[in-house]
Amino acid sequence: MMKDYTDERLNMVDSQLAHRGIKDKRVLDAMSKVPRHLFVPSEIISIAHTDQPLSIGESQTISQPYIVALMSECLKLKGEEKILELGTGSGYQTAILAELGFSVYTIERISTLSIGAQRILEHLEYENIKFKVGDGTLGWPENAPYDGIIVTAGAPKVSQVLVNQLSEGGRIVIPVGNSFSQELVVVSKINKKIKTENICGCMFVPLIGKHGWNKEKKYY
Ligand code: SAM
Repeated sequence: MMKDYTDERLNMVDSQLAHRGIKDKRVLDAMSKVPRHLFVPSEIISIAHTDQPLSIGESQTISQPYIVALMSECLKLKGEEKILELGTGSGYQTAILAELGFSVYTIERISTLSIGAQRILEHLEYENIKFKVGDGTLGWPENAPYDGIIVTAGAPKVSQVLVNQLSEGGRIVIPVGNSFSQELVVVSKINKKIKTENICGCMFVPLIGKHGWNKEKKYY
């Protein structure tokens, strides 16, 4: 029988999340439940729960558990929200969002990653996720507005395109900066005005697209 990694997962939640200040019980429960080991390449399954981002191929990464928990907590989800995610990647953050919200719309620019994520998330029987392959910096206007928007790649700025697709009272959680380091930022829309709060420094792969970095020019 395949090992289920429950001990590793619970230890990760306790030592890397709860002890470092993640308080939202729903986030801690979701991260205790979602089998992170299924979202990493089989060669590195034994280190799936370590305190670091890991390579998932295509020069992309699955984020460090603490960052996944922190970004999820920053969205302040109650369970009835519609959420847009830019950067499906492995699909791990998508699964956590599907545990926390009502419906998740996720966009990935690299089709092989999106296909891999869809396979795992269907196997885990999530029915509240819609996938798209394309440039997430354009958002997904057909389903807007969103109560939460989470960007899991480093952006040069908070684009107005995403702000326009955010509902009143909604929040965008996004790393903003250059290719070496970013600041994790929470943008809230209150009475049609934007409030920005800096959370902490972080490091993500670049958000590449029309309202992100330009891959060809490589100025990120
Ligand atoms: N959330 C992912 C996870 O849990 O595995 C980690 C995502 S990884 C740090 C960032 C992802 O953003 C990469 O898969 C990358 O291909 C994707 N990405 C970069 N620019 C994008 C864009 N404009 N639209 C959609 N996805 C993008």
